[in-house]
Amino acid sequence: METVLLSTSEQDINKAAEIIKNGGLVGMPTETVYGLGANAMNENAVKSIFIAKGRPQDNPLIVHISDMEMLNVVAREIPALALECAEKFWAGPFTMVLKKTDKIGDCISPNLDTVAVRIPQNKVALEIIKLCGFPLAAPSANTSGSPSPTSPFHVEADLMGKIDAIVYSDECDVGVESTVVSFCENPPRLLRPGGITAEQLREIIPDIVIDKAVLAEPEKGKQVASPGMKYKHYAPQSEVVIVGGSREKAA
Ligand code: AMP
Ligand code: MG
Repeated sequence: METVLLSTSEQDINKAAEIIKNGGLVGMPTETVYGLGANAMNENAVKSIFIAKGRPQDNPLIVHISDMEMLNVVAREIPALALECAEKFWAGPFTMVLKKTDKIGDCISPNLDTVAVRIPQNKVALEIIKLCGFPLAAPSANTSGSPSPTSPFHVEADLMGKIDAIVYSDECDVGVESTVVSFCENPPRLLRPGGITAEQLREIIPDIVIDKAVLAEPEKGKQVASPGMKYKHYAPQSEVVIVGGSREKAA
C-alpha cells in the first residue's frame, strides 16, 4: 500500500483523522513513543494493527482518549483512587487498567474483562483523537519486538508501505512507554514501568504493589497480569558487542 506522508498542518491533521475514521492506520506522535493509531471501536481496523506490527494476538492494546467524558465510554466502576491518579498524571505517560464497558470489543483486550486507557499529552495526538470523536488504539508504531520509534523517521524505516499514513512531527518528549497500573485489584498493581515512576505513584498510592514481571523475567508458560510482559521488546537489528575488563582495557 502507499503510505501518505503528512505534516502537522491543520489540513494534514484533518486528513490523518479522516484516514482513521475510514478504518486506516496512521503513525502519529505521542509524548511517549510514536503510536500506530486506529479506531478502537472498529474491529477490522484494530485487527489490521496486529497484522502491520506482527503483534502477538493475546497482547492487549492501550486505548487513547482525549477527555474524561470519553473515559466513561470505555471503562466502568472507576475507583476513586483511579480518578485521583487521572487528576494528577493525565494528560501524560500513565495508563490505567479498569473494568471495560461493552463498547470495548474482544479485539482490544482478548479474553479480558478489562481495558487499558490513557489521555496522551502530545498536542497533535489529542487533536487527532478530538477530530475523530472516538477512542484510538495506539500501540508503538514498530514491528513487534524491535525498539520503539521516537521519531517519524523510525516509523518510516520500519512500516513504510504497511500503514496508511505517517504524521511527521517532533521527536517524542518522554521517549519510553507509559507506566501501566491496574486498578482492578486493591491495592493497585504496577504492571509495566514507564514515564511515571514508582516514587511518583507512591505519593498517591503508598501501598502500590509492583508486579513480579516488572523486576524479573516471568517464568515460561506462566500466566502474567500484563500479557505484553512475557514478550521480547526493544531488540535492535544490529550486532551487539559486549566489552569486558577494566575501564582502560575496554577503552
Ligand atoms: P504497548 O501498546 O505495546 O505499549 O503495550 C501495552 C501494554 O499494556 C502491554 O504490556 C499490555 O500487556 C498492557 N495491557 C494493555 N491492556 C491491558 C489489560 N487490559 N490488562 C493488563 N495489561 C494490559
Ligand atoms: Mg510497543
